[in-house]
Amino acid sequence: MTEPSIFTRILNGEIPGEILAETDRLFALRDIAPQAPVHLLVIPKTQEYPNVAELAAADPALLAELIEFAEKLAVEHTEDGDFRLVFNTGANAGQTVFHVHAHVLGGGLSERSVGA
Ligand code: AMP
Repeated sequence: MTEPSIFTRILNGEIPGEILAETDRLFALRDIAPQAPVHLLVIPKTQEYPNVAELAAADPALLAELIEFAEKLAVEHTEDGDFRLVFNTGANAGQTVFHVHAHVLGGGLSERSVGA
Protein backbone atom coordinates (compact mmCIF):
# COMPACT_ATOMS: atom_id res chain seq x y z
CA MET A 1 0.00 0.00 0.00
CA THR A 2 1.19 3.52 -0.78
CA GLU A 3 2.45 5.53 2.17
CA PRO A 4 0.15 8.42 3.12
CA SER A 5 1.42 11.72 1.75
CA ILE A 6 2.14 14.66 4.03
CA PHE A 7 -1.16 16.20 2.88
CA THR A 8 -3.12 13.03 3.67
CA ARG A 9 -1.54 12.96 7.12
CA ILE A 10 -2.58 16.59 7.72
CA LEU A 11 -6.12 15.83 6.49
CA ASN A 12 -6.29 12.85 8.87
CA GLY A 13 -5.09 14.99 11.80
CA GLU A 14 -1.89 12.97 12.22
CA ILE A 15 0.32 16.03 11.82
CA PRO A 16 -0.53 19.70 12.31
CA GLY A 17 -1.55 21.89 9.40
CA GLU A 18 -3.82 24.90 8.90
CA ILE A 19 -6.83 23.54 7.00
CA LEU A 20 -8.77 26.62 5.88
CA ALA A 21 -11.74 25.05 4.10
CA GLU A 22 -12.93 21.83 2.55
CA THR A 23 -15.50 20.38 0.18
CA ASP A 24 -16.56 16.76 -0.34
CA ARG A 25 -13.48 16.08 -2.46
CA LEU A 26 -10.99 18.88 -1.77
CA PHE A 27 -9.32 20.74 1.06
CA ALA A 28 -7.25 23.90 1.35
CA LEU A 29 -4.15 24.46 3.46
CA ARG A 30 -2.08 27.54 4.14
CA ASP A 31 1.41 26.83 2.75
CA ILE A 32 3.95 26.48 5.54
CA ALA A 33 6.62 28.32 3.48
CA PRO A 34 4.73 31.12 1.70
CA GLN A 35 6.14 32.44 -1.59
CA ALA A 36 3.57 35.27 -1.85
CA PRO A 37 1.52 37.40 0.61
CA VAL A 38 -1.26 34.82 0.22
CA HIS A 39 -0.08 31.27 -0.53
CA LEU A 40 -2.64 28.49 -0.23
CA LEU A 41 -2.67 24.91 -1.43
CA VAL A 42 -5.79 23.27 -2.88
CA ILE A 43 -5.60 19.50 -2.67
CA PRO A 44 -7.86 16.59 -3.62
CA LYS A 45 -8.66 14.42 -0.60
CA THR A 46 -7.63 11.39 -2.63
CA GLN A 47 -3.91 10.98 -3.18
CA GLU A 48 -4.36 8.66 -6.16
CA TYR A 49 -3.24 11.32 -8.65
CA PRO A 50 0.42 12.31 -8.31
CA ASN A 51 0.23 15.34 -10.61
CA VAL A 52 -2.17 17.58 -12.53
CA ALA A 53 -1.73 15.76 -15.85
CA GLU A 54 -2.87 12.48 -14.31
CA LEU A 55 -5.75 14.23 -12.55
CA ALA A 56 -6.86 15.89 -15.80
CA ALA A 57 -6.76 12.59 -17.68
CA ALA A 58 -8.61 10.57 -15.04
CA ASP A 59 -11.08 13.01 -13.47
CA PRO A 60 -11.41 16.33 -15.33
CA ALA A 61 -14.49 17.22 -13.27
CA LEU A 62 -12.38 17.11 -10.11
CA LEU A 63 -9.81 19.40 -11.74
CA ALA A 64 -12.60 21.84 -12.62
CA GLU A 65 -13.85 21.68 -9.01
CA LEU A 66 -10.32 22.38 -7.81
CA ILE A 67 -10.07 25.51 -9.97
CA GLU A 68 -13.49 26.74 -8.85
CA PHE A 69 -12.50 26.20 -5.19
CA ALA A 70 -9.18 28.01 -5.77
CA GLU A 71 -11.04 31.03 -7.15
CA LYS A 72 -13.42 31.07 -4.17
CA LEU A 73 -10.49 30.95 -1.75
CA ALA A 74 -8.66 33.73 -3.59
CA VAL A 75 -11.75 35.93 -3.34
CA GLU A 76 -11.98 35.21 0.39
CA HIS A 77 -8.29 35.63 1.20
CA THR A 78 -7.17 38.54 -1.01
CA GLU A 79 -8.43 42.09 -1.40
CA ASP A 80 -8.70 41.92 -5.19
CA GLY A 81 -9.55 38.25 -5.78
CA ASP A 82 -6.70 37.95 -8.30
CA PHE A 83 -4.58 34.85 -8.15
CA ARG A 84 -1.92 32.76 -9.86
CA LEU A 85 -2.42 28.99 -10.02
CA VAL A 86 0.73 26.84 -10.15
CA PHE A 87 1.05 23.07 -10.47
CA ASN A 88 4.65 21.99 -10.18
CA THR A 89 4.80 18.79 -12.21
CA GLY A 90 7.87 16.58 -11.77
CA ALA A 91 10.89 16.85 -9.50
CA ASN A 92 12.84 18.93 -12.01
CA ALA A 93 10.00 21.47 -11.99
CA GLY A 94 10.17 21.77 -8.20
CA GLN A 95 7.49 19.25 -7.20
CA THR A 96 8.28 17.77 -3.80
CA VAL A 97 4.93 16.26 -2.79
CA PHE A 98 3.57 13.73 -5.30
CA HIS A 99 -0.06 14.14 -4.27
CA VAL A 100 -1.50 16.60 -6.75
CA HIS A 101 -1.97 20.13 -5.38
CA ALA A 102 -2.41 23.62 -6.76
CA HIS A 103 -0.52 26.56 -5.33
CA VAL A 104 -2.86 29.57 -5.11
CA LEU A 105 -0.72 32.70 -4.98
CA GLY A 106 -2.09 36.19 -4.51
CA GLY A 107 -2.10 39.37 -2.52
CA GLY A 108 0.03 41.49 -4.85
CA LEU A 109 2.02 39.82 -7.64
CA SER A 110 1.78 42.31 -10.48
CA GLU A 111 5.43 43.38 -10.17
CA ARG A 112 6.66 39.84 -10.65
CA SER A 113 6.94 37.86 -13.83
CA VAL A 114 5.75 34.28 -14.30
CA GLY A 115 7.68 31.87 -12.12
CA ALA A 116 9.47 34.56 -10.14
P1 AMP B 1 5.54 21.29 -4.33
O1 AMP B 1 7.00 21.65 -4.09
O2 AMP B 1 4.93 21.93 -5.52
O3 AMP B 1 5.38 19.78 -4.30
O4 AMP B 1 4.74 21.89 -3.11
C1 AMP B 1 4.74 21.35 -1.83
C2 AMP B 1 4.37 22.48 -0.91
O5 AMP B 1 3.94 21.93 0.31
C3 AMP B 1 5.52 23.46 -0.61
O6 AMP B 1 5.16 24.77 -1.02
C4 AMP B 1 5.67 23.34 0.90
O7 AMP B 1 5.99 24.58 1.51
C5 AMP B 1 4.30 22.84 1.32
N1 AMP B 1 4.28 22.12 2.58
C6 AMP B 1 5.09 21.10 2.96
N2 AMP B 1 4.75 20.68 4.19
C7 AMP B 1 3.68 21.43 4.58
C8 AMP B 1 2.87 21.48 5.74
N3 AMP B 1 3.09 20.66 6.79
N4 AMP B 1 1.87 22.40 5.80
C9 AMP B 1 1.65 23.24 4.76
N5 AMP B 1 2.38 23.23 3.63
C10 AMP B 1 3.39 22.35 3.54
